[in-house]
Amino acid sequence: VARYDARVSSDCLFCGIVAGDIPSTKVYETDLTFAFRDIHPSAPIHVLVIPKAHYPDMATLVAADPQLASAVLAASAEVASIEGIADAGYRMVVNTGTDGGQTIFHAHVHVIGGGKVVGLPG
Ligand code: AMP
Ligand code: ZN
Repeated sequence: VARYDARVSSDCLFCGIVAGDIPSTKVYETDLTFAFRDIHPSAPIHVLVIPKAHYPDMATLVAADPQLASAVLAASAEVASIEGIADAGYRMVVNTGTDGGQTIFHAHVHVIGGGKVVGLPG
């Protein structure tokens, strides 16, 4: 897999959220990751967890920077704890590419729960 050089993409919505140019409801933040509520929740709790650096999808991210991909997964699990759904259970979803239902091409994990999760987002 070709290396991908992360950069801020000026026309990327989620880069705008990381920069604070686009409003979001923050749930959790680390030096490398940012988590905020999905604007169209699929369940009572629906949080998006992203790397602050721009990668177009999780496959590209894990190939280029596996430690950062791991940090996104760890942050996603931490979000579940913060939101109080870790024990009851929840779903992590990674939509990849058009057929996968991906609509925002900045890598992200959906953390979904707070009730029985039915169906898929996207
Ligand atoms: P995906 O379909 O996997 O690319 O997921 C993109 C998600 O981003 C969808 O669930 C959208 O509801 C969500 N979304 C789009 N715009 C915003 C926004 N401004 N703030 C929060 N979530 C958003
Ligand atoms: Zn971006």
